[in-house]
Amino acid sequence: MKIFQHKKTIMAYLERYTDKNIGLVPTMGALHDGHLSLVEQSVVENDLTVVSIFINPTQFDNNNDLEKYPKTFENDIAKLKSVSEHLIVFSPTTEEMYAKNITSQKFQFDGLESEMEGKHRLGHFDGVGTIVKRFFEIIKPDNAYFGEKDYQQLQIIKTLVKKLNIPVNIVGCPIKREENGLAMSSRNERLPKEIRHKAAVIYKTLKKAKEMFGTKSANEIKEWVNVYFDENPDFKLEYFEIANANTLKSIKQKTQNTKYRAFIAVYADDIRLIDNIALN
Ligand code: AMP
Repeated sequence: MKIFQHKKTIMAYLERYTDKNIGLVPTMGALHDGHLSLVEQSVVENDLTVVSIFINPTQFDNNNDLEKYPKTFENDIAKLKSVSEHLIVFSPTTEEMYAKNITSQKFQFDGLESEMEGKHRLGHFDGVGTIVKRFFEIIKPDNAYFGEKDYQQLQIIKTLVKKLNIPVNIVGCPIKREENGLAMSSRNERLPKEIRHKAAVIYKTLKKAKEMFGTKSANEIKEWVNVYFDENPDFKLEYFEIANANTLKSIKQKTQNTKYRAFIAVYADDIRLIDNIALN
């Protein structure tokens, strides 16, 4: 395994392999099986796989969340080695990526940035766009892997590369879940054991919404979810939306031949959890 911290050295190293296919898996570390599933897919589909580990400060709208974000570098490397000894890891410092100017470029993603996560985490997608664009410039991957766990981010990255003509294929990967259905997330490590167990309600709610989607209106389903969480003292619902899977605009009425998804964000104490599901 090769581990790089500097742009110049990884770029010089990758120069030798211009005839090879490169897959990139961007992560913020604290790796779990969800991340590893992306890495495994990249290993199968590319000659070389680069995994970046970088906690990107500009995509956090909350300093407490940034400070408490788990950092488990040694453990991450061990997990990556268990997938393949031949991975290339890029784990730059904040200074390496931003020099002295820790700010984001401003983007417009056809309105995708104003929905859900964009509404509730101001500046989040400018931060994501800024760092992912820089990683694409440094690594120049043929394929880049993103989880459907962050479905809105996946749609935004697809829009980013189209708008900026970046020659990379964006691959969306399915959500990996814990045994109780909770979507795997680095933040799950911060949940007290009992709450982590109870957090199964998040995916249960999504599955119930999917079941209701056949017979109930979007508003009826939203109403049901709101009441359900009002009665649940362990979790605070931030939003539940039923949206067009492409535009991410929330809907009132279904139309034929359109794909829909349900999206949810909840707080357990100060820990924010998100999930989503395809409805049709
Ligand atoms: P993060 O480290 O949280 O920024 O995630 C890095 C990448 O892993 C993103 O593309 C995420 O969508 C993806 N990812 C995170 N959790 C999961 C999961 N449970 N299943 C699949 N992909 C995931």
